[in-house]
Amino acid sequence: MLYCDVGDDPLSESTPSVLQSNQAPQRLGVTVRGVVQGVGFRPFVYRLATEENLAGRIGNDTDGVTIEIEGTAAHVQAFVARLKAEAPPLSRIDSIESRELPLAGDTSFRIVASEVLGRASTGIPSDAATCADCLRELLDPRDRRFRYPFLNCTNCGPRFTITRRIPYDRPQTSMAVFPMCAECQAEYDDPLNRRFHAQPNACWKCGPRVWLESSDGTVIEAADPVATAIERLLGGDVIAIKGIGGFHLSVDATSETAVSRLRQRKHRYGKPLAVMVRDLEAARVLCVLTPQEEALLHTPARPIVLARSRANNGVASAVAPGIPWLGVYLPYAPLQHLLFADPRVRALVMTSANLSEEPIAIDNEEARVRLGNIGDAFLMHDREILQRCDDSVTALVDGTPQLIRRARGFVPLSVPLPFETPPLLAVGGHLKNVFALARGKHAYQSQHLGDLENLTALNFFKESLQHLMHTFEIEPETVVHDLHPGYLSSTWAKDWAAEHGLRLIAVQHHHAHIAACMAEHALGGPVIGLSLDGTGYGTDGRIWGGEVLICRLDGFDRFAYLDYVSMPGGEAAIREPWRMALGHLHAAGIDVTDSKITKLLGGTEHESRVLRRMIERGVNTPFTSSCGRLFDAVAAVVMCRREVDYEAQAAIELEGLAVDEPDRDNASLGYEIDLQGGDWARREPIRMSVAPLWQGLLKSLQDGVDSARIAAEFHGSVADGYVKAAEKAREACSLRQVALSGGCMHNRRLARLLRVGLEREGFEVFQQRSVSPGDGGLSYGQAAVAAAILRSE
Ligand SMILES: [Zn+2]
Ligand SMILES: [Zn+2]
Ligand SMILES: [Zn+2]
Repeated sequence: MLYCDVGDDPLSESTPSVLQSNQAPQRLGVTVRGVVQGVGFRPFVYRLATEENLAGRIGNDTDGVTIEIEGTAAHVQAFVARLKAEAPPLSRIDSIESRELPLAGDTSFRIVASEVLGRASTGIPSDAATCADCLRELLDPRDRRFRYPFLNCTNCGPRFTITRRIPYDRPQTSMAVFPMCAECQAEYDDPLNRRFHAQPNACWKCGPRVWLESSDGTVIEAADPVATAIERLLGGDVIAIKGIGGFHLSVDATSETAVSRLRQRKHRYGKPLAVMVRDLEAARVLCVLTPQEEALLHTPARPIVLARSRANNGVASAVAPGIPWLGVYLPYAPLQHLLFADPRVRALVMTSANLSEEPIAIDNEEARVRLGNIGDAFLMHDREILQRCDDSVTALVDGTPQLIRRARGFVPLSVPLPFETPPLLAVGGHLKNVFALARGKHAYQSQHLGDLENLTALNFFKESLQHLMHTFEIEPETVVHDLHPGYLSSTWAKDWAAEHGLRLIAVQHHHAHIAACMAEHALGGPVIGLSLDGTGYGTDGRIWGGEVLICRLDGFDRFAYLDYVSMPGGEAAIREPWRMALGHLHAAGIDVTDSKITKLLGGTEHESRVLRRMIERGVNTPFTSSCGRLFDAVAAVVMCRREVDYEAQAAIELEGLAVDEPDRDNASLGYEIDLQGGDWARREPIRMSVAPLWQGLLKSLQDGVDSARIAAEFHGSVADGYVKAAEKAREACSLRQVALSGGCMHNRRLARLLRVGLEREGFEVFQQRSVSPGDGGLSYGQAAVAAAILRSE
């Protein structure tokens, strides 16, 4: 093909004549859409046009970039071919459209000013880690930006977090208040310079500055504030460091006392903390890394990667207690590189500066107020952060990278939808909230907003929504929310829709999970959806979470579910897995007041008796089919995990316990999930009973089987149970595509066993990659469901 293989190409009909006259002059208009602003696209095109001896022009507009080129047909064709093949590393081309224009007789190639016309569809680029060229300058004593904490170029630097609105130009960013010095301006204006139109371009003379202040706000006089901060970190202090998308709290990760001090002040005792190290080599010392994990660590998004930690790696045990993984990542801002330029700094805890699930702090004053009791000192700067954005979290799941938290480096890049949708807003769920705006074939997911449990979080939600609506000029006509009537996101959505007279669509939680997987893979359905999750509100008002759904985008039928058990104490059973275990054991017909059982649960006979009475009388004991809660219950029994400090802690520890165990083999301990009832013709779902699994598991414990082996067998039996259910669904509905989703898909062992088991039985398996299978991906699924419903009307 002559032209790039994306987008419409009105010229393709006339190509024969173009081919016949290779030397004939030609003028072509080319529109490129995608992430093409703020990523060095115009200087790249300028260079390309110059190399191909072409005249013409290029400008940013709200649709992307518009190029006009004039020269011989051969050169014009070569230009278009190279445009896609050689595009700059941070760009993403979604489409290239070209059309023939009358000759204009230009003699040179020019870069013209941005136009602010029409509707916005061009993405703001996401924030990108310091590039190799900038890093070299940062550490070069002869360079004029030696140790300058804010250097950047068109290939790197902050973008989304400093942008007010598109088009992405300096006056629209928080760099507007820093007029460039003559030297920076000259770089900015030179199309052949690496800093041509690098919007955050700055230097010691003209740009933002760093200073250190104590927790009471007084500036600590220091010739080099970074060097002073390093001394204090090495001395065991907690330092709040202003970064790209918010503040971090940092301590020396090798110091047990410093890490404990941070945990105590942050009131966060169990949740693993992320650790930043100098480079890949240093990361290899802490963790066993596969080549894929190394590649992931090194992408311009520089996400946190959950990797297997090495024994005796020098990191304080309080960093990630009880689990064999460590969240590790590399510096992505010049200020962070400066910290690691000191060879004594080996590993730093760098965790979001907030109290538990509050939004990350971004504003200097806000940080002083909220973090005054946590940080011993503050490493501040005066470049305003306009968008809160946490670090992204990824893991290699079943051989492919999976986004666990989609934030810095990924937001606000769009995720494609399989078909066009009118403008809509999907508000997501409750925990780990992320909303999505959608229009056309694009969904724009917000950054991770945390748990929507209080006013602070709701304000962050509203603030981000306003910003993204403004940025992408999307005025929703429809609002989509979760079926749960009690979610703050649902009540807000209803109020907002009423206030603005908008259409309202409710989507069942586990349907949204599967729809997200379907939309990511452009599956039309119906498919068999395995939605294995913590909790979500079901159409029968019960708490679902272990669902086999026959799923279309615009609707679903429930084919099978983990048989209901009681959650004694409701929400309390999530925080205290021993309650969940009691609910499960009771449902399996086991006497929970038996002393052997109470011992396993680390409780008393009286306690068990009280809970049993609650279950029998149905007092504050909702029913659940949750798969996540089954994991909690097993962890409570096998590991005596009574309480959790963070979501899914028990399940994560159970997976960790089995990490070195081989998959299920012939020496199976015989844990079974029994499929009961079900009549597809009458849409009666199958109940998946785990009673036999519990009998087997208790016998193993009695026989003294190693707990790691029990944990591994349990994972295997859950996978087997769902493979069996999928086979039943295939018999009933003649389907062979299976979509996997829900929070349990973060469990690597379960995800792998399910895929392997399903493929062995001849199924085609789809897993999520660019959208989280957890609740962070819900809004994307909600948007896909709503788009399908609106399309079918
Ligand atoms: Zn750079
Ligand atoms: Zn300057
Ligand atoms: Zn969920």
